[in-house]
Amino acid sequence: MIHDPVGHEEVRASLARAYLAGTLPDALLLLGPRGVGKQRIALWTAQLVLCERPSAEGPCDTCRHCVRVRKLEHPDLHWHMPLPRPKRASSPEKLQDALEDARFERLAELRAEPLRASWDPERSAIYLAAARTIRSSAGTRPSERGEQIYIIADAEMLVPQESSPEAANALLKLLEEPPDDTRFILTSSEPGRLLDTVRSRTVPLHLGPLTEEQVRTVLVELAGADPGDAAHAAQLGEGSIGVALGYLPDGGDPGPLEEQRRRAARIVQAAFQDPGEGYRIALAEFGVSGGQALADLLEHVDRWLRDLAAAAAGAADFAASGDARDWLRSTVEKHELHPVDLARAIEFVEQARLEARGNVSPQLVVAGLVPELRATMLRDETAATGA
Ligand SMILES: [Zn+2]
Repeated sequence: MIHDPVGHEEVRASLARAYLAGTLPDALLLLGPRGVGKQRIALWTAQLVLCERPSAEGPCDTCRHCVRVRKLEHPDLHWHMPLPRPKRASSPEKLQDALEDARFERLAELRAEPLRASWDPERSAIYLAAARTIRSSAGTRPSERGEQIYIIADAEMLVPQESSPEAANALLKLLEEPPDDTRFILTSSEPGRLLDTVRSRTVPLHLGPLTEEQVRTVLVELAGADPGDAAHAAQLGEGSIGVALGYLPDGGDPGPLEEQRRRAARIVQAAFQDPGEGYRIALAEFGVSGGQALADLLEHVDRWLRDLAAAAAGAADFAASGDARDWLRSTVEKHELHPVDLARAIEFVEQARLEARGNVSPQLVVAGLVPELRATMLRDETAATGA
């Protein structure tokens, strides 16, 4: 049984009202940051439509249709998501079968561990074969409740870089002329990457971040996190369960985002060192990772500088890194940091992130950034010339 939806009460209330009034759009596009529960709300909406006794509160949660939706077993609910390309497929039909196998495996994982963020966005896509599967099954009659519902998660993946636009086109035809009694619920955290035609054929609905308290509760109750770890992760999670999970310890190791955050802290500290030594430390922290990894790391550097700026303005209590308030305060005091200088330093980091996403080599980006940070924050004019 999949967990209860978390938050988004107003969105759910408006979906229920629209459904009862017969005005729920046939093609919805749920937008919002990654990890705030868009797919869970899509499932909730599907349950609402398939429920025998829907009310203003939503689906009844007890009828057999509700139960089957919550077990991800309802025959009229079709949940598609980006999947890695199967390795062996000698024909389009075999690829289609292999993708369906992969999708059922993924659904089984979601049943067992609904919070598991297991797909690799770099190597997953919604392929033409999957769009064909959707098209052929959408053409058949609904089996039980008179409606078929297709959830298409991460719909921006309909246009993966290396593939043709065919998958998107096949699906667009369906969105344009949906078979009777067929509904689509698309989700996306990157609406800028959606095809214009997808946007123009769907009705957007925005889901905002969850509260820190909601995220913390989910981490404890659904992810089984230690309450202290959950509080820390929720504070850094920006209202996203998905983001917060990255700050939870992973076995004996820090989570992947926590690891990045700590590396970023060492880079910020390096800027306060003697220039040559600081640069050496920073370069070691950046390693030889590629541009995207560097851009991600710089996002954490950016957050540390924002926290330092908050501390310099006497507002350390508002820093995102609640566990580092003492360090923030003492660093500001020791180096006499000023909010205006920190704001300029943040601009340099943002510039460096743009370069990292471009074709500039990571080492070159770091080589430019560390002396700039030092010069700006410490007003040390000699540092900028690499002295
Ligand atoms: Zn029901």
